[in-house]
Amino acid sequence: QSTPPSTGLVGRLFRKSEAAPDEPRRALDDAMLEDLEDMLVQADLGVETALRVTANIAEGRMGRRVTSRELKELLAAEVARIMTPVARPLPIYPKRPQVVLVVGVNGSGKTTTIGKLASQFKAAGKNVVIAAGDTFRAAAVEQLQVWGTRAGVPVMVAAQGSDPASLAFDAMTRAEADGADLLLIDTAGRLQNRQDLMEELAKIVRVIRKKDPSAPHNTLLVLDATTGQNALGQVETFRNLADVSGLVMTKLDGTARGGVLVALADRFGLPIHAIGVGEQIDDLDAFDPEEFARALVG
Ligand code: GDP
Repeated sequence: QSTPPSTGLVGRLFRKSEAAPDEPRRALDDAMLEDLEDMLVQADLGVETALRVTANIAEGRMGRRVTSRELKELLAAEVARIMTPVARPLPIYPKRPQVVLVVGVNGSGKTTTIGKLASQFKAAGKNVVIAAGDTFRAAAVEQLQVWGTRAGVPVMVAAQGSDPASLAFDAMTRAEADGADLLLIDTAGRLQNRQDLMEELAKIVRVIRKKDPSAPHNTLLVLDATTGQNALGQVETFRNLADVSGLVMTKLDGTARGGVLVALADRFGLPIHAIGVGEQIDDLDAFDPEEFARALVG
């Protein structure tokens, strides 16, 4: 009972129309459902998912009078129901090295996420190698070296502008020689020239498959929660560029509640392997659907 019923996303729907002091009630009627839909769209769920969530809440309950608290519970349960199947940590395969290709637009948090993942796996006793595959961005390479040092993980780099695929090949060779458990490969995120990027990613995949036909074992798409609905377009784009197997959503520590994750889960069903909750090395959490649903509903 610490939060008054009239705060948060759901609370606002009640404050608007009724002034009862403690537990205002509203009938689940068309007007209420429309308000709920609008609220969910504003929270970045997108129209399609907002409609589906609202319909599921309404089903069998039309005309019933609910309190803000009851509606919050219904909504949180519905969001958790959608999110539970996609909350899955990065699967670990017996294959060594397990090759994880990390893709996403520049600025989404790829470099940072690779640093955090390297640190987590290192702490879990895994032998990790990083490849700085965005060879065009000197800053990204330097940043990755900083993360490697922090995590205590070697970072393979190549001369600026050199072929990322040949770096990936060298990194595979090194990871195999070292008996590494995990090879994390950073990639370029220049969406300005999709054709180039597609060819670059395809070449990386081709080359590492010469070493291991089952690689890459995971292709992680890193998304920035603050970009809201843009994340949907980024998934569409990267699914065409690479065989995306899972998502990491970064910057969920800010004001973004990450409502777009519900839309992503609803539309694509891709696993959410982790969420970024800050700029420090330990700021990578497992995705917890119940906690997420509660935070989203407010
Ligand atoms: P890249 O271009 O995709 O490699 O992105 P970077 O890893 O360089 O991250 C871009 C910016 O986002 C940097 O300033 C990071 O510190 C910041 N960043 C990355 N992940 C998070 C996160 O989970 N929370 C916050 N607050 N900032 C993040």
